[in-house]
Amino acid sequence: MRAVDIIIKKRDKGELTREEIEFFVQGFTRGEITDYQVSAWAMAVLLNGMTPPETADLTLALAHSGEMVDLSDVVKVAVDKHSTGGVGDKTSLVVLPVSAACGLPVGKVSGRGLDFSGGTLDKMESIPGYRCDLTTDEFKRQLREVGIVLTGQTPYLAPADGKLYALRDVTGTVQSIPLIASSVMSKKIAAGAQAILLDVKVGLGAFMLTLEDARQLANLMIAIGELAGRRVVALLADMNQPLGCAVGNALEVREAIETLHGGSPQDFREHCLTFSAHMLTLGGVVPDLASGRALAVRALDDGSAFKKFRALVSAQGGDVSYVDDPDKLPKARLVELVKAPRSGYLAQVNARIVGEAAVALGAGRTKKGQAIDHAVGIVIYHKVGDFVKKGQPLFTIHANNPARQAEVRERLLNAHVLSDEPVAPLPIFYDN
Ligand code: URA
Repeated sequence: MRAVDIIIKKRDKGELTREEIEFFVQGFTRGEITDYQVSAWAMAVLLNGMTPPETADLTLALAHSGEMVDLSDVVKVAVDKHSTGGVGDKTSLVVLPVSAACGLPVGKVSGRGLDFSGGTLDKMESIPGYRCDLTTDEFKRQLREVGIVLTGQTPYLAPADGKLYALRDVTGTVQSIPLIASSVMSKKIAAGAQAILLDVKVGLGAFMLTLEDARQLANLMIAIGELAGRRVVALLADMNQPLGCAVGNALEVREAIETLHGGSPQDFREHCLTFSAHMLTLGGVVPDLASGRALAVRALDDGSAFKKFRALVSAQGGDVSYVDDPDKLPKARLVELVKAPRSGYLAQVNARIVGEAAVALGAGRTKKGQAIDHAVGIVIYHKVGDFVKKGQPLFTIHANNPARQAEVRERLLNAHVLSDEPVAPLPIFYDN
């Protein structure tokens, strides 16, 4: 078998066999198939798609590219969550500590920023010292002793997904239903999750622009999970406007900490409460969503979720003084408040433009392995449907480079569309 023949077969819209997929993934994992060949193949998949059986085979090949973790000796039910990628999506930073504080131990393998969407690991690394490279033994020990883990892929856990993810980020090959489904599910399956809660984002700031595509992605991931003997629940979440207000790594950590103290933008808190309720139900801590939600509200309001977050940071080597005093988190040198140029109802806060602006400021990558700037980003002040008066704060740019700051200002103003007519607020979730 030759890698080039597999690329050509996909380029010509052929259906790959399990053997071909395994050969390709194993060769890539060992470094025998090159980044440029895998990039070409990923583009062929993006353009020509994959059948559900091909996607399932790819998922399992990616999962088996490293070790398969068994958590049955550590937790009763291993529950994990994963988002398909959004803008301002700092949900894991809140839902994990809430769930852990309510008695559900959670260990999660997260990713880095992908294209215009932010990554949980990049956010957590705003805290000096925080380690995202735990070994499997460390993962299990911490899950047993602290009840919460938030780490990244190691060379041992679905390494082929880690390598493919980094390539897709910079080759325009993210927005592919089979590539997203296999990427998400391979990590979850390899990390030993028995129940998986999926946050499938839909809208301008998501990789799925339409509800139809988001439903297809959700159903595909559910089917793959079931094939692998895992329970999967998928929620469809709006991503037309950023989630919460903060977009950018340290800014998002700060907003997550505010939420853990019981504050935060209403849409973000609501999103986190819904996810926490599902986590607690899937983990068998509560019999239904209503009791899960009540428990989650208590964990946010009584400080126990914040304490768990603090314990997480400490266990993974992070400097907890940054959690206790978020003013210590990295700060941009240039902070510019931009005001509304006229009055009107907000008809759009285009999450895609906001996400791309954050990347342009340096919060994300345009090249594989590039260093990012944890301090930069954007804080938006209004949601679709709000009435904004001329001269009211619209957003703040946090930049470290004046040219980039000027460049994103116009883009961000264009991301805010004002209407003379009242506009209905956007939902937080959609029906499956
Ligand atoms: N999250 C992942 O892990 N992979 C994707 O492709 C998208 C979101």
